[in-house]
Amino acid sequence: MKSAPAGRQHPFSTIAAALLTGAAVALDATAATPPIGYARLADTQVITDAVPVLARPLPLADVRLTGGPLKHAQELDAEYLLSLEPDRMLYYLRQRAGLPPKAAEGYGGWDGAGRQLTGHIAGHYLSAVSYMFAATGDSRFKQRADYLVAQLKEIQDKQGDGYLGALLAGDDRNRAELVDGKKRFEDLGRGLIQSGGFDLNGMWSPWYVEHKLFAGLRDAYRFTGNRTALEVEIKFAAWADGILARLTPDQIQKMLATEFGGMNEVMADLYADTGDPRWLKACDYFEHHAIVDPLAQQHDILAGRHANTQVPKLEGELKRYLYSGNQTSGDAAQYFWEEVVYHHSFATGGHGKDEYFGEPDQLSNRVDGRTDESCNVYNMLKMTRLLFALHPDDRFAEFEERALFNHVLGSMDPADGRTCYMVPVGRGVTHEYQDMQNDFTCCVGSGMESHALHGDGIYYESAGRLWVNLYAPSVATWKTENAKIEQQTDFPEGESAHFKISLDKRRTFTLALRRPAWAGAGFSVTINGRAVAQLPAPGAYVELKRRWKDGDTVALVLPKQLHAEPLPDNPRRVALLWGPLVLAGDLGPEGQSGAPESVPVFVAADKPLTDWLKPVASQPGCFRSAGVGRERDVDFMPFYRLQRRTYAAYWDLFTPEDWARQAAALAAERERRHKLELATVAFAQPGEMQPERNFNQQGEDSEPDRVLGHPGRRGRNWFSFDLPVETDHPMALVVTYCNDEWRPRSFEILVDGQRIAEQTVAKDGTTPHFFDAEYALPADVVQGKKKVTIRFQATHQNEIAAVFGLRIIRADAAR
Ligand SMILES: [Zn+2]
Repeated sequence: MKSAPAGRQHPFSTIAAALLTGAAVALDATAATPPIGYARLADTQVITDAVPVLARPLPLADVRLTGGPLKHAQELDAEYLLSLEPDRMLYYLRQRAGLPPKAAEGYGGWDGAGRQLTGHIAGHYLSAVSYMFAATGDSRFKQRADYLVAQLKEIQDKQGDGYLGALLAGDDRNRAELVDGKKRFEDLGRGLIQSGGFDLNGMWSPWYVEHKLFAGLRDAYRFTGNRTALEVEIKFAAWADGILARLTPDQIQKMLATEFGGMNEVMADLYADTGDPRWLKACDYFEHHAIVDPLAQQHDILAGRHANTQVPKLEGELKRYLYSGNQTSGDAAQYFWEEVVYHHSFATGGHGKDEYFGEPDQLSNRVDGRTDESCNVYNMLKMTRLLFALHPDDRFAEFEERALFNHVLGSMDPADGRTCYMVPVGRGVTHEYQDMQNDFTCCVGSGMESHALHGDGIYYESAGRLWVNLYAPSVATWKTENAKIEQQTDFPEGESAHFKISLDKRRTFTLALRRPAWAGAGFSVTINGRAVAQLPAPGAYVELKRRWKDGDTVALVLPKQLHAEPLPDNPRRVALLWGPLVLAGDLGPEGQSGAPESVPVFVAADKPLTDWLKPVASQPGCFRSAGVGRERDVDFMPFYRLQRRTYAAYWDLFTPEDWARQAAALAAERERRHKLELATVAFAQPGEMQPERNFNQQGEDSEPDRVLGHPGRRGRNWFSFDLPVETDHPMALVVTYCNDEWRPRSFEILVDGQRIAEQTVAKDGTTPHFFDAEYALPADVVQGKKKVTIRFQATHQNEIAAVFGLRIIRADAAR
């Protein structure tokens, strides 16, 4: 992303009167008008925010999408939500409570039985149908929300103590010994805490899962007005508080070492929805000092940390800041956002590799492989929209647009609505589409919420002012001014937007239209056909203050230019953009693996982009490199539209001199491979079914893998292949590994039971790449045999690195 502006500011007001008076507000206080949407209009607020909200998002219920890709994604999500069966996602929640399930079976994948995130889908789904009801007004979503809430109440009543949950605890490999997670929560309350990254007392991220149920109840209350949801949430929170209140501060911090989602956020929101300071105190239990304190001091301690463990945590800190004025929380949240956006994010708005942060501004060796989890971007966007509300500054809108029109739209296949886990940005990568009826991973859950919220964050208001942050076909009802704003636009491919304002009478207000940072020369605004003379520089708002009348129109021209966005640590490794749209290069069908080194590069480092990236006639957004691609030219289209293909989003640029050197190295590598082929007796491809059968693959606790598009096999115990040998030549084994192992791996290689090598494979700080290791086969092992068994054996509690190829060669062949 663009670099951060210098200086930071926090509008801070002293803790507001509502906090100081402290008294719990009875539930009835808000009975007349439950809030619809998180915008929390002033007349529905139970507390006064400690930090002023300067720009309130128009409530989701007051914004209707009317066309374009965001609307399409919303429709596909709506269809998906209606295809799911609430009784299946409630199956294990009922079973744990001793109630007979109402479906023949529960859902599987991560929502299935065992040591899973069981129950998380019910929570995500309740949030999603609540948003979708607000976003569309379709009563079927309200019915679904009401049904889920009624069911959760029945389950909670049966549990008897406020608990809701379906988690099991223990070692999933020994299912007979799995115990009800509720007991492990009770252990927690007694101070028994076994915690690690994703494990708390034998449960997989239990507070993370409970957070989804809390959030679902909150959203059913806020977005559909279901009061039972709030009552159930309060009892649920009381159960949680009963456990947490018994722990010492040290015990709490130990517990927080395990991922806990946004538990701080839901507790803060519950305080805002009830006015009961007990929940603000419960929010405080989830203040994770090891992360929050250094961030508040502006230390970027993110490297090596699981990214989506942190994003909801800091989003929760931002809520704590909003409601309580806690400055440490506010400082930490804002610093975190800026570090992630400006120092850890790729051009599409995503971040993280293999779900983890790396060092700030060290991104060029992290583009390949499994980058950019969808949950993270969803959570960053929620945080971004709230930050804009507190500081109405274009840079938040800029990031929102970037992430929404690249990663988020790209995370859904517009043909069938499948959503993705990773939407990588590397070279020779593919989307991780999910099986929408079976996988139920975290990203399936957050995806169902994400695409229901596309009406959120387009319009914000304050007294006498309406901001337009995103260009998307929509109709907004601005109740404060009794105005209707109709927006028509062909963005993102098109370059114009048109607004029509409907009013009951003439009214004076400011329409603040965003001039995006990418909208340079040619940007224009007209009111009723007359040009606006005074326009701000790109990256600011066009302030149109006037006495508006019914039927007034405003038109914008939003020209997009091509530009390259380099990574901070390598000016020659770039993403190519057209306005805010990242362009993805099409590398062929899915499954056609592209190792990064085989992806085309461009001999164009010394040329303006417009000289060599040419638009394809009558296909807006499509471009083709013109003669500079090596070994071939590439077709580009907007990242969000390129689906079901192998692709790249980052590219290496060369000067002709650099390329001549590189070409010589590539030619030498081709020659090496050619000689290797000539020397080869047999080659086995691990990770692919038929070749593995052909070479009698065996093993225990081992599995196929795919890295940088290449199939392989890895293991925690052992695996083996039988390969032919020739006795009239010395034989050697050549094994292909990748330096992109998550952790260092060391293991042994045995040939017919004889140990021939110990191998370590680890990251080496260079770009992820494959490499060959060669091992001589002792003559006495080979003698008199037609084939040998090559066995990879884990040692010292370590694991076997992924193996991407096994080759027996004649060691004496010319090479
Ligand atoms: Zn996820």
